[in-house]
Amino acid sequence: MKIRTKIAFQFTLIVAMILILFSLSLFFLIRSYTKQEFTNYLKDRAETTAALLISENNVDKRLLKIIDHNTLSTLYAAEVLVFNEKNEVSYSNLNSDRIVYSPALLEQIRKSREYEGEYKDMKVVGLMYYDNKRERDYLVLAQATDTYGEAKLENIKQAMIQGLVLALLITVILSFSFAGYSLRPIARINREVSQLSGNDFKKKLSTGNNKDEIAQLAKNFNQMLSRIENSLAMQKSFVSNASHELRTPLAAMKSEIQIALEKERTPEEYKEILESLNQDNYQLIQLTNSLMQLAKSEQDDEKILEKDVRVDELLFDIQEEFISLYPKYKVVVDYEDITENEEYLTVRGNPALLRTLFHNLFENACKYSPDNKAEVKIGFNPTNIIVGVMDKGEGIPESEQTKIFQPFYRSGNASSYKGHGIGLSICKRITELHKGKLVLRSKLGKGSTFLVIIPHL
Ligand code: ADP
Repeated sequence: MKIRTKIAFQFTLIVAMILILFSLSLFFLIRSYTKQEFTNYLKDRAETTAALLISENNVDKRLLKIIDHNTLSTLYAAEVLVFNEKNEVSYSNLNSDRIVYSPALLEQIRKSREYEGEYKDMKVVGLMYYDNKRERDYLVLAQATDTYGEAKLENIKQAMIQGLVLALLITVILSFSFAGYSLRPIARINREVSQLSGNDFKKKLSTGNNKDEIAQLAKNFNQMLSRIENSLAMQKSFVSNASHELRTPLAAMKSEIQIALEKERTPEEYKEILESLNQDNYQLIQLTNSLMQLAKSEQDDEKILEKDVRVDELLFDIQEEFISLYPKYKVVVDYEDITENEEYLTVRGNPALLRTLFHNLFENACKYSPDNKAEVKIGFNPTNIIVGVMDKGEGIPESEQTKIFQPFYRSGNASSYKGHGIGLSICKRITELHKGKLVLRSKLGKGSTFLVIIPHL
């Protein structure tokens, strides 16, 4: 079912329920009021007749009957009967002798002195009237069918049903057009989205009045389009950069092999060529490893933060491993001001990724400084642990300080060093996965400090 139909249907249903409830309660109120009015009338008749007949001694019964028949109240054809103490009829306003009453009812009226009820199709009112002069009780009974009231109620019922049907018809028409009007912005967005072509994320949805929820939806959708556009662009440049980076050592290896095969070589020459190929192959493996790490760090998964990691111990391990791998590099970790509080030194994280992060920073610090030395400081506070990796290299120009975190970006002064421009983008991604930040402080000619700030969590 379309939302428009659904809204119109639900709206009509609600209005119908309210109207039916309102009409029913109004009808029952009028009915009870009409009944009460009729009971009052019968009471009135009973009391007037009793007062005239019993208190006013000299009123002629025949005359009273005539008056009774000619008053406006004949509309109701009320029967008024007066009984003496022996339950004998001492007055009846009926012309015939066929008087219908129930003796059991008379007994009940004598007991309760006042009675209201139904007998056959009639409303019955009974009351005891005390004659002071004769010191006797009289029972007065007034009964009638409220034909006028019933006809009035029937008319009201018909009018209400007609009114209800008409109101519902109007509600259906109004709710359909109202739902259509309210959903117009959604229909517009729908149209615009269906017009977006597969790869064209530049086009954006119009945000209408810029205020309501639909405008917010369009804005969010546009933001999502921009994100997709960015990540597609990044993916594109990643693939072309990666293939370019892979092609360079592969092409070098190919031409080396071709030159080697051009003529017969001595065993020493073959050894030399194989060693050079081995070097290139090592470079290639390094590059593919970095690419794999970058891809791995792209997966945005909470499960990646699997363990509580003691950062000081981890740094110690990496330092050992790093120095044995690169004997000409130096890494000095300052453990002097370290806290006793274990919690301050622990983060929730992934040891393998953290290893990659610090390994890359150590390697850059050593690679890009003439003394091949990285100095490491550990800081902490109740929320974060802060590891600073410092070098006394040539520093990074301010204009490049954000660019170097993009994949494959290498600054101009890095061309004389080996590398592919992937390391820092991996480091940035790993700190983000740990809900932290990688901050660079660098001055040209003075050196650089990379601050890894990771919350304990
Ligand atoms: P790579 O070192 O392989 O080029 P990175 O992503 O690790 O790739 O670094 C990107 C660029 O940032 C480097 O090319 C270099 O220009 C600059 N850089 C990174 N670390 C330092 C550092 N400690 N000192 C100076 N420049 C650096």
